[in-house]
Amino acid sequence: MKYDVIIVGAGPAGIFSAMELIEKAPEFKILIVEKGKDIDRRQCPMDVKGAPCLSCPECDLVSGWGGAGAFSDGKLNLSPEIGGFLSRHVDTATLQSLIDYVDGVYVKYGAPMELYGGDGKEVARIKELAAKNDLTFVPSKIRHIGTDRCRGVLKRMREFVNEKVSTLFETEVQRILIEKKRAIGIKLKDGQEICADYVILAPGRASAKWLETECRRIKLTLLKNPVDIGVRVEVPAPVLEPLTSATYEPKLIFYSKKFDDKVRTFCVNPYGEVVKEHLKGMWTVNGHSYAERRTNNTNFAILVSTFFTEPFDEPISYGTYIARLANFLGGGVIVQRLGDLMKGRRSTHERISKGIVEPTLKDATPGDLSFVLPYRYLSDIMEMLDALDRIAPGINSRHTLLYGVEVKFYSMQIKLTDSLETEIKNLFAIGDGAGVSRGLIQASASGVIAAREILKRPPLLLSPK
Ligand SMILES: Cc1cc2nc3c(=O)[nH]c(=O)nc-3n(C[C@H](O)[C@H](O)[C@H](O)COP(=O)(O)OP(=O)(O)OC[C@H]3O[C@@H](n4cnc5c(N)ncnc54)[C@H](O)[C@@H]3O)c2cc1C
Repeated sequence: MKYDVIIVGAGPAGIFSAMELIEKAPEFKILIVEKGKDIDRRQCPMDVKGAPCLSCPECDLVSGWGGAGAFSDGKLNLSPEIGGFLSRHVDTATLQSLIDYVDGVYVKYGAPMELYGGDGKEVARIKELAAKNDLTFVPSKIRHIGTDRCRGVLKRMREFVNEKVSTLFETEVQRILIEKKRAIGIKLKDGQEICADYVILAPGRASAKWLETECRRIKLTLLKNPVDIGVRVEVPAPVLEPLTSATYEPKLIFYSKKFDDKVRTFCVNPYGEVVKEHLKGMWTVNGHSYAERRTNNTNFAILVSTFFTEPFDEPISYGTYIARLANFLGGGVIVQRLGDLMKGRRSTHERISKGIVEPTLKDATPGDLSFVLPYRYLSDIMEMLDALDRIAPGINSRHTLLYGVEVKFYSMQIKLTDSLETEIKNLFAIGDGAGVSRGLIQASASGVIAAREILKRPPLLLSPK
């Protein structure tokens, strides 16, 4: 059987490509190939009480229908400046209209109507206060699906797509098939070859390495990328309340005085929990907030973006190395009170229990992040905490908890046209894996861009099946 379109990966990018194609060209034969499981069968063994991470060959947390987004916090960031790099390919007005379109689809499938962070007086006040303190505040509208509701939204999308496309689960694509500089299909891990007129690659961040290897093999041009390394900060919720009540997710950017590095806040979780994330055999840290469950704390990441000095060009390996160092020293994620870090001593269970912030991640090891993070990162993080304290007093408190490390890998970027087509004809690359997005909304929007380009191509070019 030959398909019109094969989509590799059933994360938000792949799902939105499929939904757009189905809506506009129901006659298309579409195949989705996904190495993880269907949404109902995704279950991390750690959710079964007390089970440690079993390092499953295919991680149910990031693989399967819904991709990495299935168990995510489901914060839909509706600002073009946040969550990806699509602005390199489309102008701001087009991007905003794509974002609004994609957002509308999420609402249609069950995302709540409520929006946070309008352009009200409070936002203007915070913007001014930030500017006076060396910080840039990026206002953004956010729709919060919540981790607990994400699954329902994805299930409804699955039901819609299920009737119209073929999907192969627990099936891994190994190679992209090319003939005369044109994509002609895929080869599966079991050796089977499947042909199609178009191939859309949407493998997500966890398979970025696979995509990079494939891109090198088929000689696509790759572009340079930074790596983001930092910590997750946890404070009593009232400390950030002046910001989170006005904007839900305050995005603040700072350029450090000493190194002139870009330092930013990321993924703010009011009344949320710090969580561990298992990625390719290492533990990093992240945060969640639930629509129906609250803690007394708010957490957010402080991330430092750096490019490396030549000839070094392996940002992913560098970030992995730092995360593994934290695991090596702490047996997993390390937690430290800011006061202990400043005093040049490790945190202990006893010192943390004296603090006013009760850690929400219970199995982080009290330790010393100065053994893990290079001076440049620590210095940037300290400067950022100091700047933030001037707009939200209490952040730079000795009781503030720092968890390490949080690492955000930018997938390498592939040279793409503005319709996200690679240098190989009829081969598209979308979503986080291709380095065009870093969040649910732009990943989904990138899927729509690729689908719309395919829909524009004259049907005559589609060869008979
Ligand atoms: C813990 C966590 C919380 C997050 N919270 C948020 C949030 O609140 N808001 C937000 O906007 N974003 C959030 N994100 C990011 C968001 O989930 C991603 O940006 C988004 O899922 C990217 O979509 P994608 O389709 O590009 O890739 P993915 O969602 O990663 O999907 C890729 C899919 O491709 C499959 N695949 C990979 N390689 C192959 C192969 N060779 N063959 C077959 N299948 C393959 C994978 O199994 C996977 O299912 C979060 C991410 C995580 C991990």
